[in-house]
Amino acid sequence: MKPIALHSTRAGASLRTGLLLGVLAAVFGPALLWLLAALLPPDVLGQAAAPWRAAVLLMVVVQGVTGAMLVLHLLARRLEEPLARLTEQAHALAALRPATTLPLRDQAPELQPLARGLDALRERTAQVQGELQAGKAKLRRAATHDALTGLPNRTLLQELFGHEAASARRQARSLALLRIGIDRLHTVNETLGHSVGEELLTGMAHRLAATLRDSDFICRGGGDEFLVLLSGPVGWDRVATAAERLLRCVEEPLQLPRSGQVLGASASLGIAMYPTDGSDFAGLERAASLALQRSRTLGRGLYSFYQPGLDQALRERIDAERELARALERDELTLVYQPMVDAGSGRVLGCEALLRWQHPERGLLAPADFIETARQCRLMADLDAWVLEAACGELAGWLGQGLAPGRLALNLSVQQARNPALSEALRDALDRHALVPAMLELEITEDAFLDDPDGVPRALARWRTLGLGLTVDDFGVGYSSLSQLRRLRPQRLKIDCSLVRGLPHDTEDCALAQAMLAMAAALGIEVLAEGVETAAQRKWLLAHGCALQQGHLHGMPMPAAAFAAWLARSPQPQALA
Ligand code: C2E
Ligand code: MG
Ligand code: MG
Repeated sequence: MKPIALHSTRAGASLRTGLLLGVLAAVFGPALLWLLAALLPPDVLGQAAAPWRAAVLLMVVVQGVTGAMLVLHLLARRLEEPLARLTEQAHALAALRPATTLPLRDQAPELQPLARGLDALRERTAQVQGELQAGKAKLRRAATHDALTGLPNRTLLQELFGHEAASARRQARSLALLRIGIDRLHTVNETLGHSVGEELLTGMAHRLAATLRDSDFICRGGGDEFLVLLSGPVGWDRVATAAERLLRCVEEPLQLPRSGQVLGASASLGIAMYPTDGSDFAGLERAASLALQRSRTLGRGLYSFYQPGLDQALRERIDAERELARALERDELTLVYQPMVDAGSGRVLGCEALLRWQHPERGLLAPADFIETARQCRLMADLDAWVLEAACGELAGWLGQGLAPGRLALNLSVQQARNPALSEALRDALDRHALVPAMLELEITEDAFLDDPDGVPRALARWRTLGLGLTVDDFGVGYSSLSQLRRLRPQRLKIDCSLVRGLPHDTEDCALAQAMLAMAAALGIEVLAEGVETAAQRKWLLAHGCALQQGHLHGMPMPAAAFAAWLARSPQPQALA
């Protein structure tokens, strides 16, 4: 606030001079007359002048009083104007308006301390106001920007969308909202640490922003997601081209500045068009989310446009997730155990724990009915933890009854294989149930390696150091290569049921099974055939050197108590120390 100096006017000066002369005349005129009357001897004025002298005296008194009042009035007038100005300043300060001020030398001396005080107050107010403005700007930035990436946040996008949507309506054009999710950021966080995950996210934020046109707007949508609003003329072609460009820019390897690592990433993208897919921001955002989820289920590095049927599919999935979470809480899950035998001697070598869900309405459900839901909603870790705990508890129980169940095989999800916390959980479960690692065997499916060719072998190496057995499950239906097998060196391969089914009549299946057995023998890996249902299959496999078998012919999957009874009747394996 800049002080504005006010100067007294010329008219004001002449008024003051006139008033001064008036005061002098009023005070000194009658005083002179009184002095004259008082000093002259009475005989000079004569006896007749005595009453006149009294009148003169009265007039002197009246005029004295009038003069004093005039002086007071003039004094008040002199203070009145600057006081009004100072009052105005005080009001201006109170209203936080720029205050004007008189230069101190123009103030009456009596008012100078007050004027000085007001000046100091004005300066301090200006300073505090400046600080407030700066604080407000900071708060606004914090409320509208993401602290990690520095990008605007959803709040700002929402504000902008209001303006853009209004202008799009007026001009009868469309807008496009793109929701981009960085794939598997949680895996990066879990395996390489959160700081690497944050670096990756920040790097991708800058890259995505640099790929867009000036008229487009990007913000962080939270977690691993970004939102982009495309304005201007947005036909389907332009949206698809922009989506493609955004996805490709994420796929370029990124050198992380702090950790120095080079990471490859991919993203999935969902697109919703305004006004067709949503008439307001919330509706449009939801449609873009559904489209993103569709891209994620189709694979990685893809984009999808919103389609109306997606709502129903999502609702069903959410219901399924909720139900499964409740099943864990209400203890509706259970394990059944299927024997693995040496088909030559009939001895039990171990068993595989298989998950079941005793659904209150739908009855006993097999994993095919719910494992995929668990995978998609990230309940898999909870499910695996439950299986580990329940299976170890039951194994310890059988051992306590003097039974020799052999190795217990657990099916582990791919996500869990990469989770370093799993090694800890395994060691903890073994300790608590007083089991040795050689009693457990972990089964992992072939496509796990396809998903993450480097991460999974690293995780498996951790398990091996714990002393756990490792089996590649469903071998022959996935995509694992010989070189991956060589890197992993599992103890065992399980030939998938679908291949065993054709034995011994289907010549192609026979040739395939023979090739697998020969290859495994060359690599020194044991082979177990699953899904053995007939005596002919058993015989063919035995004849071709595959004695380890599992299937309905040898034993159905059974609840724990039934398995214990079955074990008691069976030839016992050697105890594992
Ligand atoms: P898998 O590990 O290959 O398990 C073998 C499947 O073959 C089991 O199906 C078993 O019941 C079935 N099977 C066994 N013998 C025969 C037979 O003679 N004929 C036929 N047709 N089938 C036979 P299930 O129990 O439905 O399990 C299916 C898959 O679900 C498992 O395949 C495994 O990948 C997964 N799974 C099962 N339990 C768990 C678990 O606790 N955790 C995880 N992550 N996955 C599990
Ligand atoms: Mg299995
Ligand atoms: Mg299998």
